Amino acid sequence: MSGDDAMPGLAMHVLRRLSELQETHGWVSDGSLSALSEAESIPLSALEAVASFHPRYRRTPPPRCSIAICRDAPCAIRGARALTESTRRRLASRIDVAVEEVSCLGRCDVAPVAVINDVPLAFATDARLEAMALGMAPIPSAEPVPTGRRFATDPYGPGERRYGVLERMLAGDRAAIDTIPSLLVASGLGGAAGADVATGRAWERVRNAPGQPKYVICNAHDSEPGAFKDRVILAELSHLVIEGMLIACRVIGATTAIVYLRPEYVPERIAIAHAIDEAERQGALAAAEVESLTIFTSPGGYILGEETALLEVLEGRRGVPRAGPPFPPTHGLYGRPTLQSDVETFAHVPRILSDGPKRWFARGRNGGAGLKFIALAGDVVKPGVYEVATGTTVRELIDVHGGGVPEGRELVGFLPGGASAALLPASKLDTPLSFDAVRAAGSSLGSGAVMALAKGRDVLAVAANAVRFFRNESCGVCVPCRVGSEKAVEILERALAGTSTQEEFQALPALHKTICGSSLCALGTVALVPAISVLDHFPERLKPKSRTDRQAPA
Ligand code: SF4
Repeated sequence: MSGDDAMPGLAMHVLRRLSELQETHGWVSDGSLSALSEAESIPLSALEAVASFHPRYRRTPPPRCSIAICRDAPCAIRGARALTESTRRRLASRIDVAVEEVSCLGRCDVAPVAVINDVPLAFATDARLEAMALGMAPIPSAEPVPTGRRFATDPYGPGERRYGVLERMLAGDRAAIDTIPSLLVASGLGGAAGADVATGRAWERVRNAPGQPKYVICNAHDSEPGAFKDRVILAELSHLVIEGMLIACRVIGATTAIVYLRPEYVPERIAIAHAIDEAERQGALAAAEVESLTIFTSPGGYILGEETALLEVLEGRRGVPRAGPPFPPTHGLYGRPTLQSDVETFAHVPRILSDGPKRWFARGRNGGAGLKFIALAGDVVKPGVYEVATGTTVRELIDVHGGGVPEGRELVGFLPGGASAALLPASKLDTPLSFDAVRAAGSSLGSGAVMALAKGRDVLAVAANAVRFFRNESCGVCVPCRVGSEKAVEILERALAGTSTQEEFQALPALHKTICGSSLCALGTVALVPAISVLDHFPERLKPKSRTDRQAPA
């Protein structure tokens, strides 16, 4: 069985029921919560705890029209703050319209981005938003629009029957299937979202873990500002992602697979649901002995993409990270062995098995392996998702793929791996896009999201914007993360206003160390990194500076 948001075979699902209420009525009323509590014999307090934790569940009736505008760095440098203010002004007299600022919507290539009644709007303007809100212009369709773009990662030609790699694998004997993890290790494929663990080793670990059932989860929840490559892969290479997941199921012995999706990816959810239906019609699920391949749409928020918070959500609880050990490969969903990988990693698997690891590896350069999808945003002529050989330099990415910097401006610096990465100065533009090289340059490739910053951009404002994002998205369970990120935002805001002292800013590394030492998850360990990188790489910015020299993005 397959389909959108169906969870057959799993226990009663609190979040699914809440999501149904939200989607049917537009909000979760006290009355409907009580009725659900009674009907499903779940304590009302348990339902309240979950519903109140996730902002997606409205507890008051929604306005007729709801507009959400991204406030994070890629949109901020494209005027999102001014867009929000002018849209609010234009619609100030309309009590049936709400305009709010939200965290990154995952469409940084078409910034500034808004969502109107859950439908994403690229290159949003106040005039368009006003016209749509007042019914004078139609809200666009959420249906995905195929671009017809060809990707080297895709081993299939146009119109070619898919799932051939899976079919060939299944035609072999069990011994051949058992060699797949070592083939993936030989290919050099690592967690494409930045994890240092070789994909093949992770597969081996779950395959060898005792206990059944086992689960395969595609974590399609990356919500970090600047990170939108998975969105494009989901929409345009849906079948490759599914084929990679089905191969993983067969290798580790799982019969249940879940695509865990962030709620903002509405067109991508449609694309992946179509692809699942097609895979089922083609018999690919049955051939792989997969009984259930479903999409689960989370209630949203960065922390819900953390690998253990994700499990909590799937089990119907608040999305708070778990303390390990044990860890998901042996004790994952419902305490069973669970393989989690990101969208890009699954998409690479069919090509690697089709080419053989040596040929895939040969695509890499400078000691890197294979292909890498990079999301490019910020001050570039052509922001977008590019598939590059590992080892392509940041400069090549920006100049060759991204068309350079608008108006031929120089760059002041760049973020090489999303909002959690250290900002690097323009002198590091020749750094190859490989995990090792970017680490050696003093940052991280993270989620494969490069953001270019032209001269005139204020790196301190970009750093403050990133730290504010992590402060907002902290689940608050660890006191140092909750309080420390708030404190860091205060220091950064004073620094932006020119009212903090150098000493205050110099305290950030010690605060970072304290938070790192007591954080349950990676959010705490990265929250202050962008701010500290200003100290490390842009110390001149912390000297008193004329306001007219700044072009603040946030
Ligand atoms: Fe939550 Fe921060 Fe602790 Fe992570 S480090 S569990 S986000 S409080």
